[in-house]
Amino acid sequence: MHSFMLPPADTFDALTRAARERILILDGAMGTMIQTLGLDEDAFRGHGGHSCAIHSDHPQQGNNDLLILTQPQAVEDIHYAFAMAGADIVETNTFSSTIIAQADYAMEDRVHALNAEGARIARRAMDRATAQDGKPRWVAGAVGPTNRTASMSPDVNDPGYRAVTFDDLRRAYGQQVRGLIDGGADLILIETIFDTLNAKAAIFACFEAFAEHGKRLPIMISGTITDASGRTLSGQTPTAFWHSVRHARPFTVGLNCALGADAMRPHLAELAGVADSLICAYPNAGLPNAFGQYDEAPEQTAAKVEVFAREGLVNIVGGCCGTTPDHIAEIAQAVAGHAPRKAGVLADV
Ligand SMILES: [Zn+2]
Repeated sequence: MHSFMLPPADTFDALTRAARERILILDGAMGTMIQTLGLDEDAFRGHGGHSCAIHSDHPQQGNNDLLILTQPQAVEDIHYAFAMAGADIVETNTFSSTIIAQADYAMEDRVHALNAEGARIARRAMDRATAQDGKPRWVAGAVGPTNRTASMSPDVNDPGYRAVTFDDLRRAYGQQVRGLIDGGADLILIETIFDTLNAKAAIFACFEAFAEHGKRLPIMISGTITDASGRTLSGQTPTAFWHSVRHARPFTVGLNCALGADAMRPHLAELAGVADSLICAYPNAGLPNAFGQYDEAPEQTAAKVEVFAREGLVNIVGGCCGTTPDHIAEIAQAVAGHAPRKAGVLADV
């Protein structure tokens, strides 16, 4: 089903051209930056003169995606800071903008607005940055795993039980992806994948949405290795993970989150050894401390990510939890002297 159309020539050409020349830079952690703002419940709701005040019986503090509607300038400024730090691609603040994840906050009816506005805000920030330095930039619509797993039971006494089905996920992701496309996202990034069946539902939803819109966007697929066994939560090795998603002919496959760059490296090397797409890696800033915070300094993270580049493993690098614009600036500087990995679609175009 992947062959029915190609991505729009301009976006895909510009991206592949840039990726052939150098290692591209993805942004860092939106959540980490939002935390530093110290927003209270009122601020999350947008009370006090902001653009879209939310009235709900449910507490909204911690619903980071909602800030797209209630604190759009703050979100735009974070995107802009990452862009000016060197990010070629920024992720929309839509990690949890599905009806499944927003059900925790009773905000299901805002899902289309979150995704469409999330993409528009990121695009505005990119255009501001491009007006400064003339560099092209791309917006990746971020699609998170949701808080449910389609291939595992949350109840140890009932292993056949599922809290969510493939079709539930397909519909929820479809709604999200349509919103991201409406808002002008250049790519779709399916990230932090701990259950590959969830990701397959997201891929399927992308193809359905692309068919409706009559254009295919490049897809980035990023798994998460959650422990030292080197497997995803649903039990796959990096090689198995690749073979489960390669039918999507992704623009990139890769790993993010969960581990710092040191622990990610062998799993990334395995993936880079089998995948014929580009490779993208964005680790956390080390491992969290006892308070759940990340202490790794920008130079430390950058030195570890540089190893990926030196070993020829990557085409795109960035940061996940705990990474700030300073981390991204250091990473961009550290990999600038290294050639991108040669493989995959670049060999064909
Ligand atoms: Zn992370």
